[in-house]
Amino acid sequence: MHGRPPIDGVWLQSATCASHPHPEWWHSHDPREIDAAVAHCRNHCLVAEDCLAFALATGVKGSVWGGTTQHERTQMLHRNDRLLARGRRFRRASRRSTKGSGNVTTG
Ligand code: SF4
Repeated sequence: MHGRPPIDGVWLQSATCASHPHPEWWHSHDPREIDAAVAHCRNHCLVAEDCLAFALATGVKGSVWGGTTQHERTQMLHRNDRLLARGRRFRRASRRSTKGSGNVTTG
């Protein structure tokens, strides 16, 4: 891992950024280096999904994780929030229409 706090997880043992010759790319502000880190994650790391899941679950800020930038992860979380809110609205509407219909069938 590239200067991150210690994290438990078997997936970390396969984190290819840990042995990359340019670990600073994962923290860079240079778009070319960020792109290179993202490409490395996506093309050479077998644990990118675990890494991304960790970053999303913990809300860690900054750096490249799981082949995503902070901006991309923020977009993912906002999209997820919108989908969850839509799901809640749908379930509420379904309950209201079920209560009102009196046509509930059970399987
Ligand atoms: S996905 Fe990228 S940041 Fe995550 S462990 Fe792999 S190489 Fe490192």
